[in-house]
Amino acid sequence: MFFSQLATFPYFYYMKFPVIGELWAGAKHMFYPVVCEGCNKPLVGGEQVLCIACASILPETRYHAEPENESVLRFAGRLPFVHATSLAYFTADGLLQHLMHGLKYAGKKDIGIYLGKRLGSAIAQAQPMPGGTEWLADIDLIVPVPLHPKKQYKRGYNQSMLIAEGISKTTGIPVDAHALERVRQTESQTKKTRTERLANMEEAFRIKPGTDLHGKHVLLCDDVLTTGATLEACALALLKEETIKISITTIGIAVS
Ligand SMILES: [Zn+2]
Repeated sequence: MFFSQLATFPYFYYMKFPVIGELWAGAKHMFYPVVCEGCNKPLVGGEQVLCIACASILPETRYHAEPENESVLRFAGRLPFVHATSLAYFTADGLLQHLMHGLKYAGKKDIGIYLGKRLGSAIAQAQPMPGGTEWLADIDLIVPVPLHPKKQYKRGYNQSMLIAEGISKTTGIPVDAHALERVRQTESQTKKTRTERLANMEEAFRIKPGTDLHGKHVLLCDDVLTTGATLEACALALLKEETIKISITTIGIAVS
């Protein structure tokens, strides 16, 4: 009981007294050793989120330099875009599904940063092919898919924003988390057809008034690509600025 109370040490103190927050973060590790999110073994020097063994089995797609990868094909014919890529395959009960659950429902924000950093460096290090990764050098800013403000308030953060921050850390490309805003809560998407989903998503997003995206190449980012309806709606909202170029990236791509 005592330890569980310690674990929820008020956020207030972190904000008000950063030194206390840092001391506390160090002290907490003495009670709770930092463990691998994949296998629960304690992490050792330099390891973050995953131990070396688990980090090496994340099923990476290596799509980044492929002009016609599966992420590209999922958006083909739906909207104009430059490139699309995803870091890893997302399968039911797979390692990535487990990590995403921790990121979205267990407050493990460091997972978002970690995966974003891996995605950023994977794209940057991909071997150039014809039509390869030159698109990355052309990106002006990273824009995460926004959550509805109510949902963000409840969760305390936007997981796509953390992913965007991670990508930014390894690519140096700035993030604009406010370029796009969610103006309407969408109904549950699970039992709808693609056409119904699109209609439901339409007008859910808009460029925040006063944001200048003239001539910018935007990298839109999200956690997992399934049907792509949310990303498509975001891209269509951004494309109301006619001079914009869009590329799309996600951590996971759902495969059966
Ligand atoms: Zn592990």
